[in-house]
Amino acid sequence: MFLNPFPQFIMFDLDNTLAVSKQPIDAEMASILANLMRRTRVGIISGGGLEQLEKQVAAQLPPHADMQRLYLQPTSGAALYTFDGMWKKKYEESLSDDEVRRIEDAIETAVQETGVVDTATPSYGERTESRGAEVVFSALGQQAPWEKKKLWDPEMKKRHLLQDALIHLLPGFEVKIGGSTSIDVTKRGVNKAFGVRKISELFDIAIGDMLYVGDQLSNGGNDEVVKETGIATHAVSGPDETKQFITNLLA
Ligand SMILES: [Mg+2]
Repeated sequence: MFLNPFPQFIMFDLDNTLAVSKQPIDAEMASILANLMRRTRVGIISGGGLEQLEKQVAAQLPPHADMQRLYLQPTSGAALYTFDGMWKKKYEESLSDDEVRRIEDAIETAVQETGVVDTATPSYGERTESRGAEVVFSALGQQAPWEKKKLWDPEMKKRHLLQDALIHLLPGFEVKIGGSTSIDVTKRGVNKAFGVRKISELFDIAIGDMLYVGDQLSNGGNDEVVKETGIATHAVSGPDETKQFITNLLA
């Protein structure tokens, strides 16, 4: 694969694009990303919080990696952090305490209305978590093992039911399917497309000079929304394909 000119910014989804759900990237991926960062700026966008992006990606990179070329967009692009000796916040679309409460109440109602979550069964950690700019509902709990999560909603039906219920209950907010068991709620208009536009604006990079890589670019997946910005996209099935893609790009 040869892209000419080489993208000035490559944005990656995290879960199941760079790493298996909530796991750190492996050493091979870390080395490939560090090589890519020699060539261009690299962004990571994910429904997870900053801590998760640091742990899953930044902390895994080799010491020679040029961290100033790494851009972290946690909470579905609701915030951006860049590195200058430490992670510094460039923007954050925070939810107020009142908004968080309204979202949490709506989640409770949606769970009851849809009946898709068995709340009588203990969860793996909290089911609802507020991450400043985002409230996340994880049907099995935040710490549920991947083996359980992948069996919960393989056809995305339960998540669609929850999403539809929440869209009705929460006009004025953005309700997105997050990971394999989760729903993410942010301010309206805050999603991965917003994240793409913010990078373009803040660093004066034309969207036409950017590239997005993700595993959920079709069928209502959580990367699909970026297409509305006109950004070039590359779909992968998982981390192995992403490694291959970057390696070919750099060849
Ligand atoms: Mg993904």
